[in-house]
Amino acid sequence: MHIVVCIKQVPDSAQIRVHPVTNTIMRQGVPAIVNPYDLFALEEALRLKDRFGGRVTVLCMGPPQAEEALRKCLSFGATDAILVTDRAFAGADTLATSYALASAIKVIGQEQHVDLVFTGKQTIDGDTAQVGPGVAKRLGMNLLTYVSRIVEVDLDARRLKVERRAEGGVQLLDTTLPSLITMLEGSNEMRFATMDDMLRAARCPVRKWNKEQAGIEDLTKIGLKGSPTIVSKVFGPTPRSEKADVQAVADSNVNDVCLNLLEKIFTQHPTLEEETIERLSA
Ligand SMILES: Cc1cc2nc3c(=O)[nH]c(=O)nc-3n(C[C@H](O)[C@H](O)[C@H](O)COP(=O)(O)OP(=O)(O)OC[C@H]3O[C@@H](n4cnc5c(N)ncnc54)[C@H](O)[C@@H]3O)c2cc1C
Repeated sequence: MHIVVCIKQVPDSAQIRVHPVTNTIMRQGVPAIVNPYDLFALEEALRLKDRFGGRVTVLCMGPPQAEEALRKCLSFGATDAILVTDRAFAGADTLATSYALASAIKVIGQEQHVDLVFTGKQTIDGDTAQVGPGVAKRLGMNLLTYVSRIVEVDLDARRLKVERRAEGGVQLLDTTLPSLITMLEGSNEMRFATMDDMLRAARCPVRKWNKEQAGIEDLTKIGLKGSPTIVSKVFGPTPRSEKADVQAVADSNVNDVCLNLLEKIFTQHPTLEEETIERLSA
């Protein structure tokens, strides 16, 4: 079985700062981590490798320092790693990112057929959840989003059954391979890296592909040129001025306190009083 897991290196959100002048995210000096959502995707892929054998390739499009994130995934047990890195990819939005990743997965598929592609549900920085669906569309693969459990894989019949979290419950989806799965956070627990895998990860070559090696056919579809979305401004929400009104309530006067609060609210929102009376008398 050959599985590709797309992982993104992201700034550790706990330490993110916005540049006061350019309004962009300051990445210098901010520790970079593997996008937490992608670890659930990686763990699920490794569990399938444990069951069926085969290969788990981790793939990232990013600057040269993203190699570190790929080595982290190798230390958890991924078989091999590919970093798609080229200045031409800089400034990519989700459309351009999905094009670059899909092109690279096609090249990987020429080496060894790809049965499944995993992505995380979303990233903690761009947070759009658009890349997974974009890659599936470009590769013509079945798209299974918000997957919480892999129920069954039949490699001979090329079939796959998964549970997907949906509004109001869980859906059981029965489909064919190859498919792309966006894995839901909390759907499994990341294993600990073994000493062997950590040593292997330190030695294992991470292949670096530039735009040619990644099979990019249309240069107008990558990087800033290929990105219709421009992030014009990144800014922190303005902290709210009004403070919560905390009142100590003894049992005896709960009614009074409620009435006072209602009075305050109705003074601030006069129409609300009519609406409430209307509804209560309906
Ligand atoms: C604050 C901020 C806001 C942004 N807003 C937008 C926006 O509104 N629209 C837009 O088009 N772009 C936006 N971008 C750019 C966007 O982050 C990049 O295009 C990015 O490469 C992919 O989008 P995402 O982070 O939303 O990924 P998502 O679609 O949330 O990622 C889903 C999954 O795809 C995989 N994946 C994503 N990126 C990579 C990668 N580089 N390499 C390998 N796997 C990957 C991971 O498995 C990930 O879990 C924004 C960036 C920032 C920092």
